[in-house]
Amino acid sequence: MRRVSVFGATGSIGQSTIDLLKRAPERYDVVALTGGRNVAQLARDAIDLKAEIAVTGFEEALPDLRAVLAGTGIEVAAGDQALLEAADRPTDWCMSAIVGAAGLAPGLRALRNGGVLALANKESLVTAGPLLMAEARKYGATILPVDSEHSAVFQALVGEDIQAVERVIITASGGALRDWPLEKLATATVAQASAHPNWDMGQRITIDSASMFNKAMEIIETKEFFGISPDKIETLVHPQSLVHALVGFVDGGLMAHVGPPDMRHAIGYALNWPNRAELPVERLDLAKIGRLEFQDPDPVRWPALPLAGEVMRRGGASGAMFNAAKEYALDLFIAGEIGFQDMAQLVTKVLERHWAKSAEGHKDAVIPLDDVFKADQLARRWAREAVPLLRK
Ligand code: NDP
Repeated sequence: MRRVSVFGATGSIGQSTIDLLKRAPERYDVVALTGGRNVAQLARDAIDLKAEIAVTGFEEALPDLRAVLAGTGIEVAAGDQALLEAADRPTDWCMSAIVGAAGLAPGLRALRNGGVLALANKESLVTAGPLLMAEARKYGATILPVDSEHSAVFQALVGEDIQAVERVIITASGGALRDWPLEKLATATVAQASAHPNWDMGQRITIDSASMFNKAMEIIETKEFFGISPDKIETLVHPQSLVHALVGFVDGGLMAHVGPPDMRHAIGYALNWPNRAELPVERLDLAKIGRLEFQDPDPVRWPALPLAGEVMRRGGASGAMFNAAKEYALDLFIAGEIGFQDMAQLVTKVLERHWAKSAEGHKDAVIPLDDVFKADQLARRWAREAVPLLRK
């Protein structure tokens, strides 16, 4: 029996993970399941999987969680500290799928168990990549990427020498607004930006796909996880979302990873690694698909992409500021307080202010967690201050 925990169990990635665990419950000893406000789902899964403990990230949700799990023998807890304590419980495999910067600290703590951290929470690598990788080395833990693009790169690199990699190409669907005229983008509503053509994901990452902030995060993740230099990372728009990434080698060969847009592949790969096991995902009929399309991304339509290049070049706290400003801008967009294109403008303003003050001398240095949180808070404050400066 493998001891497993799922952080962010009630979300899109979490539920796909739970689906795989429920298909073979005899193989897993479920330790902790964590969620946020969806207490009913968390309790249901904790009962079905006989979890040791169910934790909600929100203190105010604890009475409800306690009520639904009364008499089951499943422990309950709530709040940030409880998430950390749940991460301390020994496991062989832990899924990190809380959305946003809130996922960083529990993931870091889980690394101390020395097992596998299946990393969906992309904010961890963007905000604190060097710290995360250093902690994994220190505690002998293995981080496996769950983002489909990084799982694809990881799979293409099995048995390869990283020195022989000439380039890594991350594909992007272009999101919900890919074919909109540029001049119409400013009018995009939350509902329009939330309708992804291929993937069924949480709302935040779906909007980030439309703005390409999601891809910008993934480019940074690629640098941090694989240690690939920024000038070797390319982005290609691929509307069908079937080729998830390509790795180009010095001999001109390109290894592409092709699969259906179903996160259970990448999650299942991480769950079964280093082996492969049958997974309940569609088998592609390439003859029926007929053709695969690729286009260069337009940096004017998607300013998040060049911004990611600059974040990687500057390093230091840039990733933490970038992510926090992006999260803040996304909150404002979802609340209807700023427009779709204002998000990139706001993030740019925060980063420009940061770069005007900081030379980022040690760009790949490990930044302590407290400093990551300080940079996060500062970026959110600067984003708030920059709102009145947005071009109307
Ligand atoms: P969702 O929004 O669907 O789920 C987020 C999860 O985090 C839920 O369990 C939610 O609880 C929980 N949560 C939210 N805020 C807090 C908090 N403050 N403390 C504790 N738990 C919290 O997100 P996704 O599953 O889409 O994404 C999860 C992560 O994986 C993100 O970092 C995303 O970028 C990444 N990712 C997602 C992909 C996808 O296909 N969805 C693909 C690749 C990466 P509740 O719902 O109960 O409130």
